[in-house]
Amino acid sequence: MELQHTLKHEISLEGVGLHTGNPVKITFKPAPVDLGINFVRVDLEGRPWLKADVLNVLDANRIPRRTSLGKDGFEIHTVEHLLAVLVGLGIDNLIVEINNNEVPGLDGSGLEFIEVIKKAGIEEQNSPRKYFLVKEPVWVAEKDSLLAVFPHPSFKISYTLDYDHPILRSQYISLEINPETFEKEISSFRTFVLQDEVEELKKIGLGKGASYDNTLVVTDDGVIKNQLRSPDEFVRHKVLDLVGDMYLLGMQMKGNVVAIKSGHTLNIKLIKKLTEQKARYELGGVGSNYTFKQEAKELGISQIMQILPHRYPFLLVDRIISLEGGKRAVGIKNVTINDGFFEGHFPKRPVMPGVLIIEAMAQVGGVLMLSQEEHQGKIAYFIAANNIKFRKTVIPGDQLVLEVEVVKLRSKTGQVHTQALVAGKVVAEADLMFTLGES
Ligand code: ZN
Repeated sequence: MELQHTLKHEISLEGVGLHTGNPVKITFKPAPVDLGINFVRVDLEGRPWLKADVLNVLDANRIPRRTSLGKDGFEIHTVEHLLAVLVGLGIDNLIVEINNNEVPGLDGSGLEFIEVIKKAGIEEQNSPRKYFLVKEPVWVAEKDSLLAVFPHPSFKISYTLDYDHPILRSQYISLEINPETFEKEISSFRTFVLQDEVEELKKIGLGKGASYDNTLVVTDDGVIKNQLRSPDEFVRHKVLDLVGDMYLLGMQMKGNVVAIKSGHTLNIKLIKKLTEQKARYELGGVGSNYTFKQEAKELGISQIMQILPHRYPFLLVDRIISLEGGKRAVGIKNVTINDGFFEGHFPKRPVMPGVLIIEAMAQVGGVLMLSQEEHQGKIAYFIAANNIKFRKTVIPGDQLVLEVEVVKLRSKTGQVHTQALVAGKVVAEADLMFTLGES
């Protein structure tokens, strides 16, 4: 079990904001468990604070080329390199006091943040770390950029950078993010800009604290007045930005991130989508207020198809969100206008046939019976249904939550009580009986 971490001692550093050019002092202070990363503007009246969380991200179209946070009119710019270091070193809880509106740019990478945090020391805390677990693939795309994340037991990033530019042709890197790899492979690589963009950025008031030292200015022949720390420094810096942005989930994540030419705008879009996904899982489904036990087992469609023989158009369970062997199962069926039965039931007013709701309940019941080890490989025959009640119609766009509780379970027969819900309201219920036979 991984524990949460904070700093052992408080520590400060000073610098200049890359974009605002403002001088800034930043102080890192230890924080209690479950607090997350919190910024405090100590130069403003009332010392307003905010959490590093997607809820507090400022619009990237208004504030381009960096990730900025804001709340109630105060702002903190360019947080991504610092956040990346906190992910990389596994800091879960921290108070970041700051006396201006931008995190110091330092050498354009995360190197100096790493040094001061290590100097302060990292302290283990007495509470397990919470991770954002990616439960199903999520992706966002824009023009020729793409960003996707897949379920994965650790935090992994594969990034492809590719500009139509002689120095920034295809660069690719793929690695697991952990303290060792982050520090060695990612943390020290610096921010960059194309020389052609410099004038434009200066015109909109950006890059006031930038210099040839802290920003690689790229021409067709190489970088101006500087040396690359690695031939693929550019792609490594893009990973640094992405790691930092991902911390706006409010906690570290486990997932496999695949990025093609992704930047802050797309990164934030993905995080918003992931946050929506989490809310949906916590609710147990779209439009449903059903909550299920986290520790219970879940089954995806491929596992369901290994248990049930049903196939399109008669497989009526999309996912099992909770399975407690021999006791209880909860399944999900997303009802869409593409379900074949709506073609004739009824063309002008599509309604899901009640008998198919019962069938869907029976299929969840089947999964519950057949997932028991001693019943594996058997077939459940649906032999009787009693006390059927249809309470509400089910229409395209509804998500059926199918709850099945075991009433009796013997070696050859089973009886379950079932309910189907939409948005927390019961739409149908029934008692169902099965026999279990050899296939
Ligand atoms: Zn950056």
